[in-house]
Amino acid sequence: IDADVLITGAGPAGLVLGNLLRAAGIDCLILERQSREHVENRARAGFLAANSVRVLTGNGLADGLLRDGARHDTCAFRTDQAEFELKYGELGTGEVHTVYPQQFLVTDLIAEFLARGGEIRFETEVTSVSGTEATVIADDLLLRAEYIAGCDGQHGVSRQSVPARIFRRDHEISWLAILAEAPPSMSAIGYAIHERGFAGHMARTSTVTRYYLEVPRGEDPAAWPDERIWDELHVRMAAGYHGELKRGPIIERRIVDLGSRVMDTIQRGKLFLAGDAASLISPSAAKGANLALMEAEILAGALVAALEKGDTTALDRYSADCLPRIWRAQEFSHWMINLLHSPPGYGDEALFLRGLRDARLESLRVSRAHQNFFAENYVGI
Ligand code: FAD
Repeated sequence: IDADVLITGAGPAGLVLGNLLRAAGIDCLILERQSREHVENRARAGFLAANSVRVLTGNGLADGLLRDGARHDTCAFRTDQAEFELKYGELGTGEVHTVYPQQFLVTDLIAEFLARGGEIRFETEVTSVSGTEATVIADDLLLRAEYIAGCDGQHGVSRQSVPARIFRRDHEISWLAILAEAPPSMSAIGYAIHERGFAGHMARTSTVTRYYLEVPRGEDPAAWPDERIWDELHVRMAAGYHGELKRGPIIERRIVDLGSRVMDTIQRGKLFLAGDAASLISPSAAKGANLALMEAEILAGALVAALEKGDTTALDRYSADCLPRIWRAQEFSHWMINLLHSPPGYGDEALFLRGLRDARLESLRVSRAHQNFFAENYVGI
């Protein structure tokens, strides 16, 4: 046997799981396709929900986050002439986000996992996983374990080994995800609703800001040089009216097609999926990394019980424990998609859906009940 637990993928799910297992003295090995440098520099998420911060803090994984993370408690919805802010930290359950870029978290988690005696094989591609045999093939080597955790993300191989019914939706919306070497332009998370399409503003650090621009499906990011991006953000975020954007060089531009996927089971024999391998959620409500951490915590507890006490009750009900939370996050994420977008054009149906979107936005502006619903779901999992 090569390890008690073999983990495919060194993303947030695999690394949190690995750290929790090492804390319990369980022998585990992580196999990661990319180099260490690559995963430590891959900018993606940034908004950690209160539950994620609890998981990290409660397990000694939050030193960097507590030192350099920033509290975030307000978002702003803006149109051409109007803007309203929701101080979600004072609504709903009163919880806030902590902004800490995912690549910083991954860097911290790798260092801590190695310090706890874990092993990571970088540049090692898993090509096949068997939940019934508890084996993995990586770089032509057959590896055996008591259990396998499939944490290899959206494009990994683990989920292909779980025969499941798959429910999916292509939202037929694409975003150009942009990282700008520029300080945030607003203190709030900014959602701009514009007839040319959605635009978003999310702080990352004092010198880097993430922006999103809704673009047609199939768009080539190369068609968006820096100046075009800033000019379009200026228009959609109504910067002439609400305040100029702080411009700087664009350091990353990539297309994200908004899609969702849920499986009716996320386990098969000795194989258990977590994170984007288990379910895919559109980034509209910033839930992906937070679901990954929640599942990693549940799976770690279940694996420890199985390996230390021979009690597999929690492992047996792993899917049943996770799926209702996954669906709840999907539901809110879908709600957000409908709040931020409407179909293009001026046909009857497009105009009808735009009317619904505007009514929802107005309700969110004036209704305390609606604001509490938003806040509770926005930060909760
Ligand atoms: P990943 O982070 O994808 O990690 C999987 C790992 O497995 C990777 O390192 C990969 O290299 C490795 N791997 C894949 N295949 C193999 C293989 N065959 N063999 C070995 N290794 C393999 N979420 C939020 O909560 N908040 C946000 O604000 C947010 N913003 C986002 C912005 C963007 C632009 C994107 C793309 C995503 C965003 N997300 C956000 C989603 C979030 O980044 C993901 O949900 C999160 O990374 C999931 O973690 P994971 O560990 O499951 O998967």
